[in-house]
Amino acid sequence: MARSRIGVWLIGAKGGVAATALVGLTALKKGWIQPVGLVSELPQFASAGLADWQDFIVGGHEIRDVRLFDEAWRMHSESRAIDADLLRKCKGELEKIERRVRPGTLCNVGPTIERLADDRQAHRSETPRAAVERLQADLRAFAAEERLDHVIVVNVASTEPAQQHPDAIPDDWASLSRLLDRPQKCPLPASSLYAIAALDLGYSYVNFTPSLGASPAAIGQLAVERRARYMGNDGKTGETLLKSTLAPMFAHRHLQVMSWVGHNIFGNMDGKVLDDPVNKQSKVASKDRILRDILGYSPQTLVGIEYIASLGDWKTAWDHVHFQGFLGTPMTFQFIWQGCDSLLAAPLVLDLIRFTERAWRAGEVGALTFLSSFFKSPLGVEENDFGRQFQTLEAWAAALHPATRGPVDGKAPASPATAAKSARRSAARRAD
Ligand code: NAD
Repeated sequence: MARSRIGVWLIGAKGGVAATALVGLTALKKGWIQPVGLVSELPQFASAGLADWQDFIVGGHEIRDVRLFDEAWRMHSESRAIDADLLRKCKGELEKIERRVRPGTLCNVGPTIERLADDRQAHRSETPRAAVERLQADLRAFAAEERLDHVIVVNVASTEPAQQHPDAIPDDWASLSRLLDRPQKCPLPASSLYAIAALDLGYSYVNFTPSLGASPAAIGQLAVERRARYMGNDGKTGETLLKSTLAPMFAHRHLQVMSWVGHNIFGNMDGKVLDDPVNKQSKVASKDRILRDILGYSPQTLVGIEYIASLGDWKTAWDHVHFQGFLGTPMTFQFIWQGCDSLLAAPLVLDLIRFTERAWRAGEVGALTFLSSFFKSPLGVEENDFGRQFQTLEAWAAALHPATRGPVDGKAPASPATAAKSARRSAARRAD
């Protein structure tokens, strides 16, 4: 049976997370690595009918004129995080992917990201409308040249400055669409233009960053109108993963958290961008909000993010939790998390494309809320307890209808109603 060909289009295709995910994807396709760290390879998803790693073909947008292999190699030469032999074996595949990378857009990304860009690889002065049309032309060409059945756009680009005027973004798609022709009035950053470009074509969009992306209600409306799907924001990979796992423990034991202080230090390019206070604001907001949501009150919090060049991709987080126990006695819990940032993020990016592809085939439309456990600020979800979020993913996979559970067969996705109808028909046939 012919299999589907699924495009994965990475925004920020030559960054640390992208390059690491692409080394991982290549190695998985060839069977060179064990699937450690991949959620979609857990036994409870074995019968969910997820796509094979072989089914994914990668392209992307980038703003820097660098070579993908060289960027991946930095994970060995600067961070000692990926084995040199594995990287050498992946070189040919990375060079193939490199040929499918197109210049990105710099609309409203702020000066820190603009400084990263090379003129040959980025468009600096185009209207938001022109940017969306150009990005869509790239996506269409990718789909046509690679004979793709669907494309999943994943944003792994640098974190944009926090949105200063959220009220300037209208709530309905018709009004927001008109703003695309008025560059002076359009506050949308590049991440949202990439989201619009993808969703308008009926493709899927996943935002692994804290940037605005598909967050505005009007973009959600566009997605539903086009029967497309999206999810974000900001991959939950390290300190926040621990917070969303440990804070419920304090809540369930009725221990009163008085303060939670977290200091993060790391030295990769993401850290350099986050060194700019306006870009950092997006990340701090994303990391800080979950304690209040889980505990139901607001302890004093502090989130520090500092760029320390010598650390490369290795991030250390020190957390100090001051809490009150029985008889009002103050106690302390401290932890140190030392992780390699891109190696924590890359498998989640791969899981997200696999689950999103499955959601496309199952006819899911709008925010993919069952993916909340992957994000620091999950769209459309109030629940921040990691354990409970994960249960929604398991429940979604378990409920996948058998009619859409089979092997990827290259057919257009059935809507849940169609799937249910066809299941009823097969049941009736079996009964006959
Ligand atoms: P990076 O700086 O190594 O890579 C970002 C890439 O995006 C760069 O190659 C840059 O040139 C490119 N880029 C920037 N603006 C662009 C634009 N407008 N269009 C196209 N390309 C653009 O960063 P990274 O470590 O790979 O992280 C990527 C993103 O993922 C960041 O926003 C980061 O905050 C987020 N994230 C990372 C982790 C993690 O690494 N553990 C966890 C959660 C979220």
